[in-house]
Amino acid sequence: MILLNQKTPKPDRREYTLMIVPHHAKSVLSVRIPIKTVKYAAAALGICLTILSGTMLNYRYQANVATQEKTELTQLREVNSKQYSELEELAKTTAQLQEDMTRLNQLDADLRRLVNSEDATSTSRSAPVRVGNHSGQGGPESKPSINELSNLVKDLGSSVKEREQSLLSLKNSLIEKNERLAATPSIWPTSGDITSRFGWRSSPLGWGSDWHPGIDIANDTGTPIVATADGVVASSSWYGGYGKMVEINHGNGIVTIYGHNSELLVTPGQKVKKGEIVAYMGNTGLSTGSHCHYEIRVNGTAVNPSSFL
Ligand SMILES: [Zn+2]
Repeated sequence: MILLNQKTPKPDRREYTLMIVPHHAKSVLSVRIPIKTVKYAAAALGICLTILSGTMLNYRYQANVATQEKTELTQLREVNSKQYSELEELAKTTAQLQEDMTRLNQLDADLRRLVNSEDATSTSRSAPVRVGNHSGQGGPESKPSINELSNLVKDLGSSVKEREQSLLSLKNSLIEKNERLAATPSIWPTSGDITSRFGWRSSPLGWGSDWHPGIDIANDTGTPIVATADGVVASSSWYGGYGKMVEINHGNGIVTIYGHNSELLVTPGQKVKKGEIVAYMGNTGLSTGSHCHYEIRVNGTAVNPSSFL
């Protein structure tokens, strides 16, 4: 048993008496400890406890920080890995687009050659820009860089604009060519037998020879007469020896004339398409039988219609 007594003789010379009373011994051991020593010991113990608890708290804090940093680092690595995969996919897709664009360039050039466009050589033949090793040829691995991708996308953007302009001009060329083709006389105006060709001939009316500025195609009265090209009706009326005549203006100085009709179906200013019926065959004007006098004039001069057929 331990008893602790405090004696208080004087405030500055107080001391504790530690009495040790054994259970079976007769004598009691008493140890006197100055109160200063007890205070110092208590203070030292307090400081030790403070340092210990501070160290423990610091250790726990450091451990928490390390765990948190480790977790963040793992998450960052996962994000980084995912972003790299996405970047690689993007690089592959962009490289594929660049190859597609090269094929489009080639197609553009081929089309231009087909339509005999003057600027057939103006198309770009730039080779696709490779990013890293994404085309499956082997070799050391190369990571796609943002700069490379950015340049590739810029290159693609300008290629698309250039190709769009080129295709638009090709489209306009084709439209123009089609319009020119549609406005060029290229079909027979009617069916029947050719009874008189272009050029000098003995007059069908029996007065020597005369200059025949067209071709005559004979058939039954009422046989349809069609426009041989797209154009605008210049006149549709009786015109001297031509009888009931249709004149169509096709632009570019080209005019076609259909004479001796029995009936006229169009009016001046009317737009007609190639193959559209404009009149019916007849025997009007200076004519010896039912036929169509077909004439083509270029800049006012009659030319041989055979060269258009
Ligand atoms: Zn004739």
